[in-house]
Order: sequence, then structure tokens, then C-alpha cells
Amino acid sequence: MNDIDRLGTTILGYPRIGPDRELKRAIEAYWAGTLDEAELQRTGHDLRVAGWRSLAGAGLDTVPSNTFSYYDQVLDTATLFGALPARFTELGLSPTDTYFAAARGTAEAPALEMTKWFDTNYHYLVPEIGPDTTFAVHGRKPLEEYREARALGIETRPVLVGPVTFLLLAKPADGAPAGYRPLERLDSLLAAYLDLLATLHDEGVRWVQLDEPAFAADRSAEELDALTYAYDVLGSAAARPRILAAGYFGDLGPALGRLARSPIEAIAVDLVTAPSAVDTVVGEPSLRDKQVLAGVVDGRNIWRVDADRALAAAATLLGSAAEVGVSTSCSLLHVPYDADRETSLDPRIRGWLSFARQKVDEVVLIGRALHSGTGVVAAELEAARAAVRDRANAPALRDPAVRDRLTRVRPEDSRRADHRTRVAAQQEELALPPLPSTTIGSFPQTADIRRARAAHRAGRLDSAAYEAAMRDEIERVIRLQEDLGLDVLVHGEPERNDMVQYFAEQLRGFAATEHGWVQSYGSRCVRPPILYGDVARPAPMTVRWARYAQSLTAKPVKGMLTGPVTILAWSFVRDDQPLGDTARQVALAIRDEVHDLEAAGIRIIQVDEPALRELLPLHAAEHAEYLDWAVAAFRLATAGIADSTQIHTHMCYSEFGDILPAIEAIDADVTSIEAARSRMEVLGDLERAGFGRGVGPGVYDIHSPRVPDVREMTGLLRTALRAVPAQRVWVNPDCGLKTRGYAEIEPALRNLVAAAHEVRTQQHH
Ligand code: GLN
Ligand code: ZN
Repeated sequence: MNDIDRLGTTILGYPRIGPDRELKRAIEAYWAGTLDEAELQRTGHDLRVAGWRSLAGAGLDTVPSNTFSYYDQVLDTATLFGALPARFTELGLSPTDTYFAAARGTAEAPALEMTKWFDTNYHYLVPEIGPDTTFAVHGRKPLEEYREARALGIETRPVLVGPVTFLLLAKPADGAPAGYRPLERLDSLLAAYLDLLATLHDEGVRWVQLDEPAFAADRSAEELDALTYAYDVLGSAAARPRILAAGYFGDLGPALGRLARSPIEAIAVDLVTAPSAVDTVVGEPSLRDKQVLAGVVDGRNIWRVDADRALAAAATLLGSAAEVGVSTSCSLLHVPYDADRETSLDPRIRGWLSFARQKVDEVVLIGRALHSGTGVVAAELEAARAAVRDRANAPALRDPAVRDRLTRVRPEDSRRADHRTRVAAQQEELALPPLPSTTIGSFPQTADIRRARAAHRAGRLDSAAYEAAMRDEIERVIRLQEDLGLDVLVHGEPERNDMVQYFAEQLRGFAATEHGWVQSYGSRCVRPPILYGDVARPAPMTVRWARYAQSLTAKPVKGMLTGPVTILAWSFVRDDQPLGDTARQVALAIRDEVHDLEAAGIRIIQVDEPALRELLPLHAAEHAEYLDWAVAAFRLATAGIADSTQIHTHMCYSEFGDILPAIEAIDADVTSIEAARSRMEVLGDLERAGFGRGVGPGVYDIHSPRVPDVREMTGLLRTALRAVPAQRVWVNPDCGLKTRGYAEIEPALRNLVAAAHEVRTQQHH
């Protein structure tokens, strides 16, 4: 293979939201009508240009394109191939507004469902593919981005979601016959990919990257056959660019051989999530004439690479493939831009970190060491080693008191009385009506709240004034809920910037970044804290707010905490000990808070675990071990309290099918769960799995600005009641309200309470 074909050092994808969330701001301004489409596109253009320049400037051999998105790459793919449902395309909107309508919904057209991208905290929009969906190239995005980069003199490799992964991520469109699967549309989709590949080839594109992460999970023989078929078809095209198939987030297992035997040129493997995948690659004879990209720099976590280990993994592959390139384990979409900007961080901790920019340098470094020998980069390698050593030896990583306490935890510390006993005690204590109405916790984070927090952080508002502002807000929210007639109230979480960061800032063992934003979905970004050392709770974190809120009303106010699994899932977590050990430390900290809330007179405590499903390993063989520690952590955090204290939990954004037994096993009294977009699908499954607890299926999709009317919500409730007896059903939105405005949530909650009343009354007669 000649030089010009080498992938060499590269990355699989790059952040796109902008180092200062420029894209978020532009998109939201466009939605608000204060920025026009041309200006929005200019922001997109500028961000792409800056990204390519920095990648090419860092010395990568090849650079990806089409990794930019105004919302989501799966939605981009559906749009590109003309597969948006008719309810959006028939709205008569511009292409841009049709695209955003599919993402966010409109009054007439509910949005596409949104769910987690594999085991990450990124969310994609679920394509709806029916037997009549036809695919054809409708858009020019990959081509236009390619041209845009070429105009800068940068040759790029357009990245696309692979056809098989795209269909595996899709759900059957409404009205599809029972048993129908989107994969049945593979031929039509492949025809469209072939068409696109031909166009790209004519343009002079040398490489495309097709992402097939769906094959890092267990796949049936039929699905593996579909992979073989698809890459035979694409690989056999007469006119096409070279194809790199990227499988990340785990070991490709049997899919590796399928791809290796197909007529494509290169395969990217993730050697970080699954170091043992090295053996799979070495044992695959069909790779001998292919290029392999060794994904040895972690694309998802923020620790500096262990250069010796990364180099050794890549070097092991030499000889097993025609050419070994070096890359990140997955797209860098999942890490922030630049660790060097974190100047307020303890410099010692900053020295342990690597964000997207640093990871690109690490790829270049390891690539040079691999191909030119360690001698040429001796100083850089030594610096990398020193950083890894410094972290390993840092005293802050181990707190003897925390470790000692954990050795003294007994099994009974995680056990509550049986559920029936608790139901009786709680009914007596709380005397709630049937179908009690509540919310998930947060109320809109208004501009006033954000301003007060910013002023407080900047020292322009002293603590007393800040506390007073938050108390006013809490009082307003309590009064509003009383006025709306909700049965179980919340304090509204005005004091929380984010449900994980808020706790991380008060726990020992965490560090916060200033600019470490990562896209979560659409324009929404999160700033995950860094969990670097042993975790402990020096003082109560939420008690004074909860106590104040409860003092304002006779109705029960729910205390609101984030669970240990979610705290881990939404942080960048130390990788020097098993996750389960870290989870137990966090669980003890939350347990202390639960006990303090109870002592302060809070009778209902919600411990949110929206990420319980997210961390589920992609391979079924690893599920039991994960669920064991995850369930144990939740129980350790929520036991040791009175039978009459009611524990709620909340889950959202995911397919719950694989964790139904765990939802039962965590032993919460009430579980609220996202259900509106999927029209209560999850309930039947829960009940079939023998779930006997309280359940609050969301009847209001809060991811959309749409206000559902009473009939829509009574309809959903009646659907729910076909699966679950009325005495166990709660009425609530899908999730917290913090991203919405009062103009939407007031009428929506009014309708929600009315719907609860209506259905409640009918239950009685
Ligand atoms: N209690 C949180 C809120 O209402 C839960 C958020 C979530 O599930 N992501 O905002
Ligand atoms: Zn939620």
C-alpha cells in the first residue's frame, strides 16, 4: 500500500459545540428568533474551520469531517437519506426547521424519541423506519463539509453512521406490522449509501469512515449476517472511496472477523474499553491485508494516557495487519476541548488531565513512537510517564477514614423492611390520594436564578443575599405547586446548577472544571465533575433547603438527591480502581444525606438514578456483575431509615428492558420513569417482570416545548392503568422541568393535575 493511503494517526471524531459553547448559543438564539439562519450557519462554519485547523496543525496524518452537527449525527443521517417521518416533512418548513422540528417537536408533530448513545451520556434521536420508508440521498452535508475543509487545504475523511448501526438504532415506524424490524430496509438504505459513496468518490474523497458501534454489543447471527452483507455490497462498489469501518465502545467480537473478511480497507478497534480486543485482532488472519487503527487513547475519559501501555497495545498489532495506525478509542465528542484552559484547577490535578486537544497530541506522540521509535519522542514520553506516576502516588487519592468505614459496612445496612410493611406505614404517614400527582424535582431555571448564581460565583452577590434569593424562589415554587394542586411538592432545585455537579462541589474527592463542557443532547451541554480520589461528605448538602421548603407547607415535600450510579455516570471517574468500589464510597456519602433529611422531617426522599441503564455494559455477559454493584450502591444509600419514610427514584432517557429486574431490586418504594414519548410502553414490561411497587410513568414529555392537553394525559394514564393497578400509579412529568419555561410548564402541570383528578374520580365510580 502506498503512503498516500495510510490513515496513520487520526481521531474518530471531535467535539463540535465550541470551546465556549458557541454553537449552543447560536442554535438557541436561532430558535428564539434572534439569530437568522445565515448567522447560525456562519457559526457552524467557523467552528468546523477552527476544528480542522487545530487537528491538521497538531500533526495528525488524517483528519475526519462530517463530525459536526446542529443537533445529532443520527438525525443528520436520517435527514441525509430522506428518512424523516412525514409528520415533519409535511409541516411545510424550511429544511433547517424541519430538522429542528424532528429534534424538538412542534404543536402538531411530537418529536422523535431520544435515547442514550450506547453507554454514554450523549443522546441521539431514534429514527422511525417502517416497511415503506424509502432511502435516497437528500442532503449534501458530507460533501459540503468535505469541500469546506478542502478549501482550507485540508483533506478529510467524511464520517457517517454506518448503515447497519443506523438501522439497529432505529425503531419501527408507527403502524409497522408486528415483528417488523427496520433492518429489513437494509437493501434500500445500502442503495442510498452506494449513491453517496459514488458522489464522494467523484469528488475525489479518498476515505470515508462508517461507524458501526452497534457491533460492540452482543449481536444475533442474523445481525452479523447483515453486517457481512452490507460491507460486501459497499465494498464491492465500482466507484467508492476507501472505507474505514469503526467499531468502538467495546470488543467487536465476531463482528471483527466479518469486517475483516469484507472487501473494505480498514478497521478501527477500541483497545481502551476492551484491552483484550488486541487478541481478537492478532488472531484474525483476514486482517493481514487491511489497515487497523489501534484505538489506544481513551476518547471518553479525561486522564492522560499511559503512553507505555498504549504503545505496547498498538505495537502488538504490528505484523497482524498491513498497516497499523493510531487513534482514539472513539470520537472525542465525549470529552471537553482543552485541559490547558482549566487554570483555576489545582495544578497538580490539571497535570493528570487530557481533554480533546491533548488527546490529539497523545495520538500523534504514540504514532511517532510506534513508527519512528521511542528515541525521537523520548522527552515527551518521559513527561507523560511522570504525569501518570504523579497521579498514582498522590495522597489525595486515598482517605483512610473512608476505606475503614467501608470495611465496617454490614449486609443489614442495605436492607429495608419488606415492601408491604412499608406501604402500610407510608400510607398512614402520608395519607395520599390515589394517583398522587408530583413532579420530578426541578422547576424552570429562570434567567433570574442563573444570574443570581453567576453573581454569587463571581463574588458580586454575598452568600446571605444569594441564600435569600434562593429562598424566595423556593417559596414561589411551593406556592405555585399548592395553587396547581399537586399532592407531593418539591423545592424546585433552584440552587443546583446541575444534578451531579451540585453534589460533586460539596463532596471530597471531586474537582470541578470551568470550561469542561460536553454535549449531552442538541444544544444541551453538561460539565462533568472529575472524581479523582476517595469520596466523603464533610457536611450536609441539601438539608437546609429541604427543611425550609417543608416549613412552608403542610403537604409533603420530597427531598431530592442524586444516586451513586448517576454521580459516577455523569462524572469523569478515576480509572485506578473498580467502579464498584468508587460507587460504594459515593453511596455512603448519599446515605449520610438521606439520614439527615429524614432527621430534618422530610418524609419522602427521591434518589435519582436516570443513568442506571446508561452504565449497563454492552455485553450481556457483564450485566450481572454491573447490576450487582449498582443495585448494592443504591440500597446502601437508601436503607437504614424508618419504614414510613418513602424512597422514590427516577429514571429517564433509556430503554429499560434490560434492567427491569434491577428496577425492582433497588427496592425503592416509587419509581418515576420516562414514558410519554414511547406511550407507556415500559409499563407492560415492568409489570410482566413482576414489579409490585409504585410507579410514575411520565405523562408529559418535557423535552419538547409542547403543552399536552388534559385529554392527551388522561389517555396516557388510562393506558397506564391497563398495565398497573390504580393504587400503585403516580402522575408526573417525564423528567425535571429545569430546561423549560413557566409559560409552558404552568399550563402543562395544570392539565396534569386535572388529568389526575379526572382519572382518579373515574376510578372511584
Ligand atoms: N431531579 C432531577 C430534576 O428534576 C432529575 C433530572 C434527571 O432525571 N435528569 O431535574
Ligand atoms: Zn429524568
